[in-house]
Amino acid sequence: MSQAIADWNDAAACKGRDTSVFFPPTVTEKKEDRLLREAAAKAMCQGCPVKDACLADAMTKRDFNGIWGGLTEDERRALSRLT
Ligand code: SF4
Repeated sequence: MSQAIADWNDAAACKGRDTSVFFPPTVTEKKEDRLLREAAAKAMCQGCPVKDACLADAMTKRDFNGIWGGLTEDERRALSRLT
């Protein structure tokens, strides 16, 4: 891991917090539960000082699992089609 990546991870708003809301559960999730979970994750991302770096890293790695940089898997897939 590069120093730059380590640095942004250190400043992450989600560091040390419950990050289970960033990923879908292993069991079937109702739509309303998914929307609540995603909203909780996005709220954490909203004021994150490293949001842009987090999103850029997920896009570079083509990591489409979970919420990164304030975007869901589907939102990042859509973004990847535009770039
Ligand atoms: S943007 Fe969201 S997922 Fe990324 S480091 Fe910040 S809080 Fe965590």
